[in-house]
Formats: sequence, C-alpha cells, structure tokens
Amino acid sequence: MPVSLNRREVLAAAAITGTGAILASTRLASGMPTRPAAPAVPPDIRPTAPGAGLGSARLAPLGNLGFDASSGKLVLPKLPYEYTELEPAIDAETMEIHHTRHQQKYVDEGNKLLAGTPLAGMPPEAVITQLDMVSDAGIRTKIKNNVGGHVNHSMFWQLMAKPGSKGTGAPTGPLADAISNTLGGFEEFKTKFAAAAAERFGSGWAWLVVRDGSLAIVSTANQDNPLMGATHAGASGHPILGLDVWEHAYYLKYRNKRPDYVTAWFTTVNWDKVSQLHAAATNAPGR
Ligand code: MN
Repeated sequence: MPVSLNRREVLAAAAITGTGAILASTRLASGMPTRPAAPAVPPDIRPTAPGAGLGSARLAPLGNLGFDASSGKLVLPKLPYEYTELEPAIDAETMEIHHTRHQQKYVDEGNKLLAGTPLAGMPPEAVITQLDMVSDAGIRTKIKNNVGGHVNHSMFWQLMAKPGSKGTGAPTGPLADAISNTLGGFEEFKTKFAAAAAERFGSGWAWLVVRDGSLAIVSTANQDNPLMGATHAGASGHPILGLDVWEHAYYLKYRNKRPDYVTAWFTTVNWDKVSQLHAAATNAPGR
C-alpha cells in the first residue's frame, strides 16, 4: 500500500524539535524553569529528533522491546521464561498463542505499515511517541494499533515472572513508598488497578504510570499506550506496569471472569522490573 508522506509536516516537526532544544538550553543557561507554562504536549513525549523518543527512554531498563537494529525491523522478542512458568495464573496454551500468533501479527503488520514512513527503522517504543509524523490518519491508526500492540506485549512479558520467584509478591523500596504515599498502600493499589482493568469496556489495557513525577492508574482502549499521549491514547504518562485485558489474554482459562484473571495475574508481576521503570521515570533528566 503506498504511503502518503507529508514532507512539510516532517520538516515542521524537525523545526519544532530544533526550536525546543534551543529554548530548553536557553532556559537552563538563564536559570529559567525548564518546563513551559502551557505546553501543547507534555515535554517528555515531544520528539527530539527522528529516531528518538524522549519519553520512550524511560523504558530503557527493559532493554530491547523487539527490534532488530541492523535491519530496522520489528521482531518477536524472546520471553524471559517458558510458556508453562506463569501457571497457574496464566496457562501455557494462552501464553503460546498470545506470543506466537497475536504478537507475531502485530510485528508482521507493523513492519509492513512502517515501511516508507518517516518512522521506519526506529525502535517501536520511539515510534509510538511520534505518531504525528505520519500524516495519513488511516495509516497512523493502523501503526498505532500494531506497533502499539507490539510494544505493549513486549513490555507485558518482561513485567511478569514465575509466581513465587524473585521480584514477585509485593513492591519494595521507593516504589512501595510511592504506592503508599499516592495510592493508599499496596492493597488499595490492587483494588484500584483491578477496578481500572474491570471497567475497561471491551479490549484494552490497565496501566500504572508516572506522570508529573507521581503515580497514577489509567486504562486505555485497544493497543493504545500512555506513551502515545492523551491525544492518541486518551491517557498519558510513562507506563511502568501494564495489564492486557483483551479476551485473548485470559478467555481459554477464565472465560468471562476477567476479575479472576486480574487477581491471579498479580501473582506474576515482577516488581523488581516495575521498580526499575519507576526509578527511570522519576529520576530522568527534566524531572
Ligand atoms: Mn494481548
């Protein structure tokens, strides 16, 4: 499918980026606040240059999210455990289908869609922060769905571990403190997060995000990710934990009982990884 590129838009984005960098350095030099009073978009999700996504840098602790830098293509990531290892919370058949069929489709479709766009060759977590660089609304939506799906699943796998293994159970350290201070403690957090997951009508995700230095629970539809920003995803922030509530994630084992899946899924959360993302999101430059 031919992709209609709006060259002027790409150049305009680059110009805005350049201006932003100059303004930022001027503010730093003069001791002025680095955050504009009323930014059109949060400064941390504004593209810095083609190939980069400042917001996506906060996902760095997760490492490669399914990208082959030499070919510039999306690739299906390896899981950090066997398909059987999340049982009994998530059954092996669901894991295998979810990974090898659902995510593989996002990878294949994403690669086709990105070819020939200004986003081709970028890591997927950077792509989803720069959707505005695709001028064709129809193609932009397809990229959002498929590359968003790829990023979301690559994150999801890494934020889980075998129930009872290191990192599972409950958060510790600064993340536990932040959950206590802003969300009423771990039990209250689980109640609120489960409610966000249950109330997401149809397919989507529940997220724990860092926004303006503080924790928040949000949900998004389809394969939207808070990194895309409020305009594209209806919610913004740096995701540090995500839960897939599409029926394909739980229906084989849990049928219509999404809340039971959510309760069991908590036993798989790798809080060590969540803590690493929390630290990266709260300690990053510009905060
Ligand atoms: Mn899924």
